Amino acid sequence: MAAGAARYDAAVVGAGVIGLTTAYALSRAGLRVAVLERGAEVASGASWMSSGQVEPERVDHLVEYGNPLELGISGIARVASRHPHWLALYLHYRARTLASPGLSERMTADIRALGRCGIRTAREWDAGRVPGVFRFGRSSIVSSCAFPVDPTDPELLGVATFRAHQIATGSPRAMCVALEQICRERGVDFHLQRSCEGLRVRASSREAPALKLVEAIETPSGPLHAARVVVCTGLSADLLFPHVPVYGLIREYAYAGASAGLFGTDDVLMASLPKPAPGQHAYVCLLETASRRTLRLGGGAIVSPCPPPLSAFGQIAHRLKGHGEPLEDWVGCRAVSPDGAPIVGLVGGFANLYANCGQSFWGWTLSFGCADVLAELIARDAPVPPTLDPARWSVRARLSRPHE
Ligand SMILES: Cc1cc2nc3c(=O)[nH]c(=O)nc-3n(C[C@H](O)[C@H](O)[C@H](O)COP(=O)(O)OP(=O)(O)OC[C@H]3O[C@@H](n4cnc5c(N)ncnc54)[C@H](O)[C@@H]3O)c2cc1C
Repeated sequence: MAAGAARYDAAVVGAGVIGLTTAYALSRAGLRVAVLERGAEVASGASWMSSGQVEPERVDHLVEYGNPLELGISGIARVASRHPHWLALYLHYRARTLASPGLSERMTADIRALGRCGIRTAREWDAGRVPGVFRFGRSSIVSSCAFPVDPTDPELLGVATFRAHQIATGSPRAMCVALEQICRERGVDFHLQRSCEGLRVRASSREAPALKLVEAIETPSGPLHAARVVVCTGLSADLLFPHVPVYGLIREYAYAGASAGLFGTDDVLMASLPKPAPGQHAYVCLLETASRRTLRLGGGAIVSPCPPPLSAFGQIAHRLKGHGEPLEDWVGCRAVSPDGAPIVGLVGGFANLYANCGQSFWGWTLSFGCADVLAELIARDAPVPPTLDPARWSVRARLSRPHE
């Protein structure tokens, strides 16, 4: 089928929070959209749980635990042996920040602007058709405390500093389910349990002979045709760009305390805890939904090709006391791009292949902002900020994993 006869204006590959917000933004721009997801339901990857915080003022282009130099000797060795291409681009990024004063600050400003879009949208959603997915408040940071922590201990108030900025916290899964529902109502087609197994690529496009054209997405049940393909596959996006998989732990406990918030004020929904070890982090947040109230302990920074065992998170996993056995443990990964910034835009060398990936530690916070940038590019040819553009590394899509 020729690209001109494509059934969809855009096909989004991957139905995590990034793919779902992208599909939503593209459908709002008037495009006929399909979503392909290899799992049986949406949010089956990193978006299944996470901490669910939307906290724009804390996002940075390279948060310290995404910095390989903060991962300790063994972390650096793992990165160097398993992700040499990523490491080369990371060093290239460090050299660029030295050569271009202000680049690092520009990246942070651009990324925080995406995050502010996230919190604005969360507010609109809360006030509109999906109330109850988010709670809003201020976060706090606890600079010193004894472990294990008793979050109901009033003495903790004495060591907590309250950040002035607003955050939202909520159930990532509930948000993805709400997004799927809204997309379906907007006419987006979902192809669940349909995996993208490759792209059928033509060497040059009629409109731009120097550029390749994706003609179809190959799937086990036959090709799917779309005029544009947007890859939102999280970690699997290393088919396009190198990502380092950094794993983290979420441990959830039932919380029977008063609804006043973690440390006794209505505002406080989340607290950063002192670092368990170099290159690691830990935090605790209170999550409330209509049906249950839980404490979520999170943290970790472990570079690994596959989910590490829970024992790898020993220093983090036993940090709360007074809450009995955990209800649930979850180990998930963050796909960290070489400079820690999202990769949003047209993939080099292609006329119709786009990426929206690399949101790393902040996929919830950045999702709506990144989706808007991409939809504006596709629907109105609006430029992408250079700090997000895949062209910042001048790398071409490989479309195959280097280690395979
Ligand atoms: C412990 C932890 C805590 C976190 N806390 C926060 C937080 O508080 N705030 C925040 O903003 N972010 C947080 N994050 C980060 C956030 O969870 C991620 O950035 C976000 O979920 C990434 O979303 P995604 O859609 O890119 O990836 P995913 O959710 O992994 O979605 C990718 C989807 O693509 C599908 N897929 C992959 N390959 C194919 C294929 N070939 N064909 C079809 N489908 C495919 C997968 O099945 C998956 O559903 C946290 C992450 C972790 C691990």
